[in-house]
Formats: sequence, C-alpha cells, structure tokens
Amino acid sequence: MNSEFDIIKKYFTFPDMRDDVLIAGGDDCASVSVPANKQLLITTDTLISGVHFPVETTPEDIAYKAIMVNLSDLAAMGATPAWLMLAISLPDIDEVWLQKFSATFSDVLKRFNVSLIGGDTTKGHLSITVQVMGLCDKEKIMRRDQAKVADKVFVSGHLGDAAIGLHAVLNNIDDEQLQPCITKLNRPEARVTFAEALASYSSCAIDISDGLVADLGHILKASTCGANVFLSKILVSSASSYYFEKYNEAKTDWAMLLTRGDDYELCFTVSEKNEAAVIELARQHKLLLSCIGEITEGNELNFLNADGERQSFADTGFKHF
Ligand code: ADP
Ligand code: MG
Repeated sequence: MNSEFDIIKKYFTFPDMRDDVLIAGGDDCASVSVPANKQLLITTDTLISGVHFPVETTPEDIAYKAIMVNLSDLAAMGATPAWLMLAISLPDIDEVWLQKFSATFSDVLKRFNVSLIGGDTTKGHLSITVQVMGLCDKEKIMRRDQAKVADKVFVSGHLGDAAIGLHAVLNNIDDEQLQPCITKLNRPEARVTFAEALASYSSCAIDISDGLVADLGHILKASTCGANVFLSKILVSSASSYYFEKYNEAKTDWAMLLTRGDDYELCFTVSEKNEAAVIELARQHKLLLSCIGEITEGNELNFLNADGERQSFADTGFKHF
C-alpha cells in the first residue's frame, strides 16, 4: 500500500452502484443520468481536523458526519440524495484508520442509497470534502427566499445539544448524562426522508448548521421579512436541561442553544392551511417538531421570553473567519 491508487482501490471503491451511474471511478470524470423531470441539486462541505471536529474524533464519527452534514443540505431543499464525491487529504497511510473510515462511509451511503462515484486522494492535513448530489421535482424545491408573512416557523428536534456536547468534549467534562449531547455532535441525523415529504407542504426551509439565530436570519434576509420566536416554544432536551441545572446555576443559556450550531435540524415555514398536514407528517416520521413562532412584516428577528420581553443575542452563529 504505497500509492493513492492502492488506497482508492482498497478503501474507496464500493461495488454496488445505482442504475443511474454510467461511469464511476477510474476515469477522469464520473457520469450519471439525471431524469428529465427532475432537477439536480448539488452541495459540498469540508471538515478539517481541529477546526470542524476535535482531533481525537474517531474515523467512524468523521466518516459519518462528513456525509451527514452534506445530506442535511440536500434535506434543507427537499432533495433525495443520489451521488457523492469524496476529496480526502490524509497525513499518512494509516490502514487501521482507513479501514474504519471506509466501513462507516460505505454503511451510511448504503443506508441512503447513495453511490460514491469519484473523488480525489491527496497527502496533507486531515481534511474531508464531500460533495453530494440529489434530485427533486422542480416545483417542490424548498428555498430560503420563500417565507411569507403569517407563515408559522417550525424546527425539528432539539437545538443546542451538539453545542453542549462540543463544550463537554473540549473541556473534558466527564459526565455520562451528557452522552446524548456528544452523540448529537458526532452522529447528527439529517432529516432526509421527512424533508422529501415536507417539500409538498413547505416552500421555505434551511438546515440549522450555524445556530437558529443565524440560520433563521438567512431565511428572513432572503425572504425580506421578520419573525417573532417564542423561547417558551423551543424544546430543550433533558440532557441540555441537566447540563444547565448542574453546570450553569440552573439557568438556561439560550445563546448556547441557539447560536453555536452543528444541530443539523430543519427550520422551515408553513402556511396556515398546511400546518395540520405538516404536524401529521412529523408524527408519521416519528420526528419531534415544534412551532416556535411566525413570520412578520419588517426585517427583525425577535426572540420573546415568557414575559413578552425581547431577548437579544450578541453572538449570531458560528463564524468561519
Ligand atoms: P485524475 O488524475 O484524472 O484527476 P485521480 O488520480 O485523482 O484522477 O483519481 C483517479 C480516479 O479515482 C478518479 O476516477 C477519481 O474520481 C477516483 N478517486 C480518487 N480519489 C477518490 C476517493 N477518495 N474516493 C472515490 N474515488 C476517488
Ligand atoms: Mg484528480
């Protein structure tokens, strides 16, 4: 094992390809066929060791998350995942690491019926760039710029658990009861199948990767509108509640829950007539859903506490620079 070709052959060549893959691996490009009635949606995300995940993160968790953060972007627009490219930079050839990374990578791809159709393998600091491509009916694509005044604002799952998980890892807080938060950090679950169905009822969604404050802010800016969000409607997980109880003088740290990111939950808007259908859809998908507020005129994002007072967040989301 001494060249990138050996690595690609042994660890990044997965046999079962989708029927719509014409050329994959071994040629200069991959080639796939896109059905005439579908739109192609494409997204990419890079994870760099020490920047996007702590250096001690396991190869299994890195492989899982590198795919999942990309699937979350497809979910945000309602697309069904289909194909994926992997550009990986490795400091050395560590076959134990590669075996673990490759096995998890392959498992996650199988679970979502996605084919690895090509990539690039280089030597350097550990860095993983995944590009994923998916398909969606043109009229169903959910976009950031489609929120309408009086729409309700929904979020899936619990926000902030991953931020608490990261805090626990970075500060060596060894507490079994925070394990759900660390799991949420390392093993987020992109809301793919729910989002595919949601696309029939919502035209505006985003995935929460930089925190609700920043990501709902993106929707409002793109849609030129405002929103009122009620903190009392935001669900706090039992692991997060435990964390605040024990480590934050029993005070809920909303900035931690809403501005740090890595949630990979969906935030979307729904018109009144589709509200009941969306709630039923979440029930069918066994997905926790909460209606946290509504779209308003103007351009302000207001977070209101139980007394109706505004809460402001100085820090508005994970910033890369
Ligand atoms: P080229 O020199 O033409 O750019 P490469 O030598 O980079 O080709 O890659 C050879 C083939 O292996 C290409 O088809 C490429 O898509 C594939 N490949 C390279 N790295 C990976 C990877 N990490 N995972 C999957 N396929 C890969
Ligand atoms: Mg190349």
